[in-house]
Amino acid sequence: ALQYDLIIVGGGPIGLACAIEAQKKNLNYLIIEKGAIVNSIFNYPLYMTFFSTAERLEIGEIPFNCLTPKPGRQEALEYYRNIHRYFKFNINLFEKVLDIQKQTSKSFKITTNKAHYEALNVVIATGFYDIPIEMNVIGEKLPKVRHYYKEAHEYAFRKILIVGANNSSVDAALECWRKGAEVTMVIRKNEINNRVKYWAKPDIENRIAEGSIKAYFESNITEIRENEVEIEMPNGKVTIENDFVLALTGYKPDLPFLEKVGIKLSEDELKIPIYNAETMETNVEGLFLAGVVCGGMQTHKWFIENSRIHATMIMDYISSK
Ligand code: FAD
Repeated sequence: ALQYDLIIVGGGPIGLACAIEAQKKNLNYLIIEKGAIVNSIFNYPLYMTFFSTAERLEIGEIPFNCLTPKPGRQEALEYYRNIHRYFKFNINLFEKVLDIQKQTSKSFKITTNKAHYEALNVVIATGFYDIPIEMNVIGEKLPKVRHYYKEAHEYAFRKILIVGANNSSVDAALECWRKGAEVTMVIRKNEINNRVKYWAKPDIENRIAEGSIKAYFESNITEIRENEVEIEMPNGKVTIENDFVLALTGYKPDLPFLEKVGIKLSEDELKIPIYNAETMETNVEGLFLAGVVCGGMQTHKWFIENSRIHATMIMDYISSK
């Protein structure tokens, strides 16, 4: 079988950045991506705007043409598709990596849902957007409960409950309210999160203050039923009528997968994978991490502009070995 210098798991922005650096170093590499190219961005809300300005999403020093300072989902898809047209990556789409194990002390066997591969090094750049953090409440599995938000139309003229006070929840609340939904928010803390985009924060706070959007602070959802939900507030429980629940309570990396391939995680609740901060190599020799997956449950620590550098760090190290 063909032995690769490197297999990159995940075709997100950082997996692609790794491939660009691998090409520059003439490494024989393959990217394996379980969905479409930049699959996480493909699954973002349709009309989302990045918090990053366009130049901070650039990889391979290819300019990001954008009419406004901050691109939306569609422009980002256009940009990363063009990146592939330019670099002509060696990439397998719609193929999922299931396991990575040492075959000899120097090489790995990579098992996917379609084939086996052999490689001297593996980079895991699998992000965190595939596994929602569940609320663990009764009724969470009802079809009216969603952990991903795409667009508002379906919620227009309906009673929707949005859980959470981060960017995803705030964007969805504002957009749905503007398209005619009756929006209630359930927020665990006593305020809108400080990480919320600076232009959206006053917007949501003012809509809540004027009563256009109803918000229960310091509250939790306790049960979801077909036509209503039960909310626990500091001063007792309330039951409200409800058609849809958008549980935008965050996402987490596939930690069981990291553990299965032998990567150790920190023992606290952050579950940060162990890696060398200069080379990005994990406790498994030849197995590297890149991009937002590095943060474990700290999913806001890494993003595109501060993790694209992982690509150069890893390829400099691999090519010097
Ligand atoms: P991802 O883009 O998540 O790529 C991981 C890839 O790995 C995915 O394509 C996935 O399908 C694939 N994969 C996973 N498991 C497997 C497997 N077993 N086998 C094969 N393939 C697999 N960041 C910013 O820098 N700026 C922003 O403005 C910004 N806005 C955001 C808005 C939203 C709504 C969300 C959810 C995130 C946002 N982020 C933003 C964070 C952003 O998602 C990440 O910075 C960026 O996508 C990280 O790139 P990545 O390559 O590390 O991971």
